[in-house]
Amino acid sequence: MSRKLLLEHDHVPGINTYAVYRQMNGYASVEKALKSMTPETVLEEVKKSGLRGRGGAGFPTGLKWSFLAKPPGVARYLVCNADESEPGTFKDRYLMERIPHLLIEGMITSSFSLGARTSYIYIRGEYYYVANILEKAIEEAYANGWLGENILGSGFSHDMHVQIGAGAYICGEETALLESLEGKRGNPRIKPPFPAIAGAWGCPTVVNNVETIAAVVPIINEGGEAYSKIGIGKSTGTKLISASGHINKPGVYEIDLGLPVEEFIYSDQYCGGIKGGRTLKAVVAGGSSVPILPAELILKTAKGEPRLMSYESLGDGGFLTGTMLGSGGFIVMDDTTSIVKNLYTFARFYHHESCGQCSPCREGTGWMEKILHKILDGHGTLADVDLLWDIQGKIEGKTICPLGEAAAWPVAAAIRHFRAEFEEYVTNPQSIKDVKHYYRLHNLQPA
Ligand code: SF4
Repeated sequence: MSRKLLLEHDHVPGINTYAVYRQMNGYASVEKALKSMTPETVLEEVKKSGLRGRGGAGFPTGLKWSFLAKPPGVARYLVCNADESEPGTFKDRYLMERIPHLLIEGMITSSFSLGARTSYIYIRGEYYYVANILEKAIEEAYANGWLGENILGSGFSHDMHVQIGAGAYICGEETALLESLEGKRGNPRIKPPFPAIAGAWGCPTVVNNVETIAAVVPIINEGGEAYSKIGIGKSTGTKLISASGHINKPGVYEIDLGLPVEEFIYSDQYCGGIKGGRTLKAVVAGGSSVPILPAELILKTAKGEPRLMSYESLGDGGFLTGTMLGSGGFIVMDDTTSIVKNLYTFARFYHHESCGQCSPCREGTGWMEKILHKILDGHGTLADVDLLWDIQGKIEGKTICPLGEAAAWPVAAAIRHFRAEFEEYVTNPQSIKDVKHYYRLHNLQPA
């Protein structure tokens, strides 16, 4: 069994309170960093660990921190991206609900390294109850001297705030998040400049995901090198996976990166196999925006090698035969699943969440939703399938932010791997008569 670094104590009664968290060696990384390390040596450890951003992009965290501009006399900020909105992803919510002090500890240690006097946890509006948990934990941290002036007599002072968003998926994009944090509409900014140069209120800012910041705690406690030995290749450490769909044991799992996908799906330690003993049809491995893969390609690469839960192995084959680890939102679909219906659900979501700044995204997401609705309504044609393919190709790479790709990639992958299913729907509309029942059941209206 792999060792848990983040969720080691998640079932300890009262672990959400300061007293119990402290008993479990909580805040040791802050003590170590402030008493025996410098901001530079903390950064060195994070670099050594090989930690990569756990929000979806997988960018090396130490490298991102090293880009932070440090002009004299200018404030720097750490902003935690807790706007977890990717469909299929709920691991940050679990971590914040169960062990809020782990995130706060990681924020303080990271802020010390970055030289940030102030940090923010930007949390999605739907997680208001988690925001309350965090607020309470922050109060406890202040009361016990981990926040405020001159922490542990080190000369380092730090204040932390929770900012609740208004429930927009796009605010998970870091520059939209910063706009929203500043009190404006959450529209992504044109880059450059990147936040490391001009972020919150124009000041140098690092934006990191909840899980990424929490991982700084075991990295400092045990050393970057020890962390780098867990995992495989450039996929170091552990990863939280939100597993959902047609599996026996949905939930949040902490795995060592490099675990075989087959073991993750079928082992009793993790998902426990497909519900009802049915057959695996497809998996969306990293949240709704990554390419869906059919069973044969999620279990093995196109080269016939076992597919592993790692950035490299899931990406093996590019988008032709591979996918991405993404946010770790692992959605399993059995052989009863309609891929077209599933895609329509995703398309409705992306159309709704597009901020509307770029024409390809604003118009393209709308058209993809409309065409999929037409197909599901029994009026599609083979030309519609080709049109869908054409539209997704006109979005990718032509927008301000990655929401365009997030909307396009699922469409491309679904058609690439399940074209026969689309063709069956348009040539034999009788095969989709159950879908109208589905609309009525869920009160869905035509696009
Ligand atoms: Fe807005 Fe979409 Fe353009 Fe992103 S890609 S800026 S969400 S319109």
